Amino acid sequence: MAYKKNDHVTVTIEDIGSEGEGIGRVDGFTLFVKDAVVGDTVEAKIVKSKKSYAYARLEKILEASPFRVEPPCPFHRQCGGCQLQALSYEKQLEFKERKIRNNLIRIGGFEETYVDQCMEPILGMEKPWRYRNKAQYPVGKDREGNIITGFYAGRTHNIIANTNCLLGAEENQEILEIILEHMCKNKISAYDEATGEGLVRHILIRKSFTSGEIMVCLVLNNKMTNMSHEKMESVSDKGEKPLCTYEFIPEQGELLWRLGQFDNMTSVSVSVNTDRTNVIMGKEIYTIWGSPTISDVIHMRDMTKEGFPFTGRELTFHISPLSFYQVNPVQTEMLYSTALEYAELTGQETVWDLYCGIGTISLFLAGSAKKVYGVEVVPQAIEDARENARRNGITNAEFFVGKAEEVLPEFYNRVGQLGEGVDRSSGSGDNADMLHPDVIVVDPPRKGCDEACLSTMLKMKPKRIVYVSCDSATLARDLRVLCDGGYEVKKIRGCDMFGHSCHCEVINLLQRAEGK
Ligand code: SAH
Repeated sequence: MAYKKNDHVTVTIEDIGSEGEGIGRVDGFTLFVKDAVVGDTVEAKIVKSKKSYAYARLEKILEASPFRVEPPCPFHRQCGGCQLQALSYEKQLEFKERKIRNNLIRIGGFEETYVDQCMEPILGMEKPWRYRNKAQYPVGKDREGNIITGFYAGRTHNIIANTNCLLGAEENQEILEIILEHMCKNKISAYDEATGEGLVRHILIRKSFTSGEIMVCLVLNNKMTNMSHEKMESVSDKGEKPLCTYEFIPEQGELLWRLGQFDNMTSVSVSVNTDRTNVIMGKEIYTIWGSPTISDVIHMRDMTKEGFPFTGRELTFHISPLSFYQVNPVQTEMLYSTALEYAELTGQETVWDLYCGIGTISLFLAGSAKKVYGVEVVPQAIEDARENARRNGITNAEFFVGKAEEVLPEFYNRVGQLGEGVDRSSGSGDNADMLHPDVIVVDPPRKGCDEACLSTMLKMKPKRIVYVSCDSATLARDLRVLCDGGYEVKKIRGCDMFGHSCHCEVINLLQRAEGK
């Protein structure tokens, strides 16, 4: 029997969909019910019906699941950020592990028992709240015309007013309220996407959990015409506070004074973005108070020991408003330390780190390898990577700007042809090592690795590949290619960087099969 729009159904939720929605079946008909938790029996109203399945809205919980918890955030249902808040954190971790496992089996075509043998227990968070070091708040107006900031409702650009997101740092609320108050008092407009008018678009706040330093960046829709870049930079170089005499925003001095009173405020900047786009940050950043960056320390942990104790190795990174930097600092240490463990470095190895961002993983690898080569498409990130290497006294890491699927094949074809027959045993220097590295680490965005990248990796025949992934579906697809090309998956470990959302990172170790 098919159901029609607006029909009411009673359904028991048996599974969790990839977006966190509850899945239940009635008479062979599949229902996807947002906000229903596995184990619930609910009354739901059909909102969209197809031949054998339908999407439904949760109307009433008839019998609550034993895995249901009271979500602490009052906005969890509207907000697009947390899809799993009503599910106990333990069950969330189970769901994430199962999602990884299912994708490897269904998409990757790996045997169930084989996947189970390789899987190590997921690395969950000890405290799954207030874990994010970065938040970007859109600024707009509510129906009454009041200036608000918060988060977009799921799949829309409607702002839900909420200055106290429970995933973000506690300080965010007070900082946001200082800015909103300043806007109200001085009649400063919020940006309106529909018209492209209005000044304040977004507020970015970053906090280093190790140094405590806080950075605020206001994304503004105004074009600086009467101040050249040179002038801005020369003002910034003096390190005076405030650095900037130009008013980007009315009564700027007063706003900076208030923000500057805030404990640990280290950097206030403006990003100019006048484009009618969904991209949040503009390309130009002007530091208007304090320093242009905040600094953060990442510590290595020993993942082979109970409790994952610190090894004493650490690196310092300077982060600017535009830098890509992992958002969950505690779990980042787990992720990177696992990647390093899987790389099994002894100090003698040559390693490629593809999709290296600002070189965070590369620099940890460099501490235990002979040489590391990083590849990243964003030029600014590579500048940051080189600067981070210098700052941490690392001299055996080299970085290339470009797409992994272009840099790697180009290098392979050029050098491979020059040195026909060059291989590890011929010992002909750096090029030979680069051509046939010991380890390749990849950490691609959600869409995974390009085919040209994978096929070149196969030709380079590293002993080990460490694949760090933020999407187990594309991971499964890529692992299939690598395994068909002569590799074996040895270890798989989930690492929860995004508690209460459906996302999960996975680290994998692949080894070249004997005789390949
Ligand atoms: N390993 C880094 C970054 C991971 S995010 C870290 O942990 O911080 C993925 C990175 O891949 C981003 O920095 C992104 O800019 C970069 N990227 C995206 N597509 C790419 C491509 N085709 N080639 C190289 N890098 C790419």
